[in-house]
Amino acid sequence: MKALVYHGPGNKKFEDVPKPLLRETTDAIVRISKTTICGTDLHILKGDLSTVAAGRILGHEGTGVIEEAGTGLGHFKKGDRVIISCITSCGRCESCRREMPSHCENGGWILGNTIDGTQAEFVRIPYADSSLYHLPDGGDEDAMVMLSDILPTGYECGVLKGCIEPGDSVAIIGAGPVGLSALLTAQFFAPAKLISIDIDDNRLEVAKQFGATHAINSSDGKGAEKVMALTGGAGVDVAIEAVGAAATFGICQDIVAAGGHIANIGVHGAKADLHLETLWSRNVTITTRLVDAVTTSLLLRTVLAGRLKPRQLITHHFALSDILKAYDTFGNAGREHALKVILTAGPAASP
Ligand code: ZN
Ligand code: ZN
Repeated sequence: MKALVYHGPGNKKFEDVPKPLLRETTDAIVRISKTTICGTDLHILKGDLSTVAAGRILGHEGTGVIEEAGTGLGHFKKGDRVIISCITSCGRCESCRREMPSHCENGGWILGNTIDGTQAEFVRIPYADSSLYHLPDGGDEDAMVMLSDILPTGYECGVLKGCIEPGDSVAIIGAGPVGLSALLTAQFFAPAKLISIDIDDNRLEVAKQFGATHAINSSDGKGAEKVMALTGGAGVDVAIEAVGAAATFGICQDIVAAGGHIANIGVHGAKADLHLETLWSRNVTITTRLVDAVTTSLLLRTVLAGRLKPRQLITHHFALSDILKAYDTFGNAGREHALKVILTAGPAASP
């Protein structure tokens, strides 16, 4: 089969590799229908994630059809259409039983990290019973790919950790796919002010279409000042960091109101300063979280009901065989006005 293989920093190839086989009775082999590229994959290609070894197939998002089901599976069988969660959950360990499968002893974020991922014609999914979701008939399959990672990530790490309440003022720093997912799901809680901050005017325009009440371009270094002016000097109840940089975490600390929350989503590859000299007396809560994907069912129901419309996050479509072109487009997201790209595997995918 063909797959996108990581060969060390800056080096990837779309090449022939052996088709995955069942290893445990709780595995499933999924024939990929749709997959996508994540900002995390770009981090891997930069060499930021030491857990990813050369030779690894990348990708942790997608949908597909079960090609082979292990004999130990109870919820899934050959031929079932499925959504793949970016988080593998054994369902039994202490972390899984605490609704924290991101730290599953036997799973967590392993797809496209420590085991081969979804940017391929086939993928092996361990603990398939608790790591896959049935793809409902009539569901928009492209939109369902957003349930693998970015919608639960924006919702769990940003919105839920930020404890957004009706009438709150909320600022989301970063209007990439995950920041926009937080922006979409923050609206479940009817915040009064929903401020999107980015350095890209096109993304800010998209944020406004997605429901932001205010859009602030922070490329002049005055993002925090503008938020303070907008909130009458009080700052925001919830500041969500969706970039993963010291500067944007700095903005969060500058704009959080007394009693407020800073919810970090971003993947930080370098250190960021924590200004306790200004925050120590401010009754502020700062949170971090790796997505647990424990809200996937809830989000799926919301999408099916038409209350959440993740298709708007998709800007580009490619065949899986054009994945290198898709990486170029996604890697130049600003120039290409790209958010999420959908890769569709060909019907004649070779075994
Ligand atoms: Zn991802
Ligand atoms: Zn577990």
